[in-house]
Amino acid sequence: MLTNFKVGILGGDARQIQVIKKLCESDATVYLVGFDELEEQIPGSIKTNMENIDAEELDAVLLPVRGTDHEGYLDSHFSDYSPQLTEEWAENLKPSTLVFTGITNNYLTTLCDKHNLNLIPLFNRDDIAIYNSIPTVEGTVMMAIQYTDFTIHDSDVVVLGFGRTGITLARTFKALGARVKVGARKPSDLARIYEMGFEPFETKTVNEHVSDCNILLNTIPAPVVNVKVIQNMPQDGIIIDLASKPGGTDFRYAKKRGVKAILAPSIPNMVAPKTAGDILASVIVQILNEQGERGSY
Ligand code: NAP
Repeated sequence: MLTNFKVGILGGDARQIQVIKKLCESDATVYLVGFDELEEQIPGSIKTNMENIDAEELDAVLLPVRGTDHEGYLDSHFSDYSPQLTEEWAENLKPSTLVFTGITNNYLTTLCDKHNLNLIPLFNRDDIAIYNSIPTVEGTVMMAIQYTDFTIHDSDVVVLGFGRTGITLARTFKALGARVKVGARKPSDLARIYEMGFEPFETKTVNEHVSDCNILLNTIPAPVVNVKVIQNMPQDGIIIDLASKPGGTDFRYAKKRGVKAILAPSIPNMVAPKTAGDILASVIVQILNEQGERGSY
């Protein structure tokens, strides 16, 4: 149980609702910033704002999955305004306060380092990223169906990246009857891609493997789907770019060439916020309970 435990939830989307519920069920006191338009009243939670929250009393802070922007602003789907995680606010937090985020950036990492805060980028954890690949890929299948006039079955699919999301993508699209090629750069990944029955190629040669590609799925957060690649794709092919913003696709050139290219962020929140929130909630509560058992708060 998290009795006497105080958590500040600063912004976020529908996934956060599951986390709030789970924390409240565990008897934590939960302060919500950026949730003024949330209609549901979750017992044990208190709506407030950055100015009125006692930062020094918090044991943990939960940021949106995307973390902050480069000035500390936080996405807030349940409010018209974006809370800001400023230097002045963060310096009031106790050293070692847990700061949960999905992913981090320079601003957030530097801020946490400077004030000795314990930053936990949840998507660095393999377990969370692998569980999260389930709703991500279900949503990608939905988009592939929605934006094309052909079946996935009997189509040619190229997956770029063979990490936590790329593996689930390749397996799922193959199970739906597509011919799947996968681009990776590590020899061990290329071997595993072959072993799993996909056609492997080195990512840097992707432009040589897209001439018959109907659906290109990118998970590499680097500019890999460049002019050369898009030039070699069929014009009626589609690119779904899952990599974190700004994605890995030259969207300007794709538009110019008439190849449909979609940057698809936060798919789990779009298609399965409850499941995606439960994945985060169970790990966050587990970490907080472990901290409590160690007496580190
Ligand atoms: P991951 O497990 O780290 O996999 C990333 C893959 O990209 C690996 O195969 C990696 O190769 C490769 N890669 C990274 N940088 C590269 C580069 N410069 N050149 C060539 N290959 C490179 O990550 P993940 O969990 O699958 O997530 C992938 C991306 O999708 C991230 O940007 C993540 O934020 C995003 N994502 C988006 C959604 C969504 O809803 N849109 C959902 C989940 C994840 P190596 O192993 O050789 O480094």
